[in-house]
Amino acid sequence: MRVRILGSGAGGGFPQWNCGCSNCRRYRSGLFRGSARSQAQLAFSEDGEDWYLLNASPDLRYQIESTPELHPRAPGRNSPIRGVILSGADVDLCLGLLLLREWHRLEVYSTAGVRAAITNGNCFFRVFERMTGQLRWECVEPGSAHSLDSFSFRLLSMPGKYPAWAIDPSDLRPDQAVSGILIESRSHQTLAFLPGLPCISPDLLNVLASCVIVLVDGTFWSEDELIEIEPNARRASEIGHMPVSGPNGSMAALSSLTGTRRIYIHINNTNPILDESSSQHRAVREAGWEVAYDGMELAL
Ligand SMILES: [Zn+2]
Repeated sequence: MRVRILGSGAGGGFPQWNCGCSNCRRYRSGLFRGSARSQAQLAFSEDGEDWYLLNASPDLRYQIESTPELHPRAPGRNSPIRGVILSGADVDLCLGLLLLREWHRLEVYSTAGVRAAITNGNCFFRVFERMTGQLRWECVEPGSAHSLDSFSFRLLSMPGKYPAWAIDPSDLRPDQAVSGILIESRSHQTLAFLPGLPCISPDLLNVLASCVIVLVDGTFWSEDELIEIEPNARRASEIGHMPVSGPNGSMAALSSLTGTRRIYIHINNTNPILDESSSQHRAVREAGWEVAYDGMELAL
């Protein structure tokens, strides 16, 4: 299975249009050692022909154009993109669905709660009703495996909330709000995609230990990273992201996964690991981790 990281940044990307943090300022002035990043997005294919997406980022149009494997193969309207698996209902995760609206048949997989949070009261999604069968949205239960033609996947329920803008989120099942995604290849190797990881339970650690590759929430280096820039901002854990560093961080919590390829993704523009000359970037690499970048290729 081929896996392509189309985007490796958190919401807003790097640099972020309205951010004047040290990373964003230095990047704009050409003084930053590291690359820009679009918003987190994965694509994968078992045969190189049919491709599926993990989430649908607001940068998806540009990300598709930057990836020749995702271009039309024949004259006229066509695309090798067959479907999308969603991990949550945040705009950063699903806005790109609307960018796939041009008369293309699409399969979407998510929990029923995520589907409701995205589509309830949202007339924009009627753009997918222009032809019969344009959008086939299948609701899946967290924990159960789903087999498609060439791979299978499973959603892992994570502690987390529906977006604040969702209509009547109290009517939706809390265990369906935020998921991790496990993709199992035809050769029975598993990749975990966890762009929003609030904590690591013993059960989750066992699941991750059985994976060949884990793509883990690298949003924030530290718990107070946003507060240091904006005093009114919230702490990392208050917005569902376990920090990378510290005794309670993901680097320490996953230090036992020495046989698994560990990669940080969904990296916020404030995170010092984006700066390849920083001590934090070096610390992550010395602990055996990789830092995802746009265009990174993985194989299962
Ligand atoms: Zn910034």
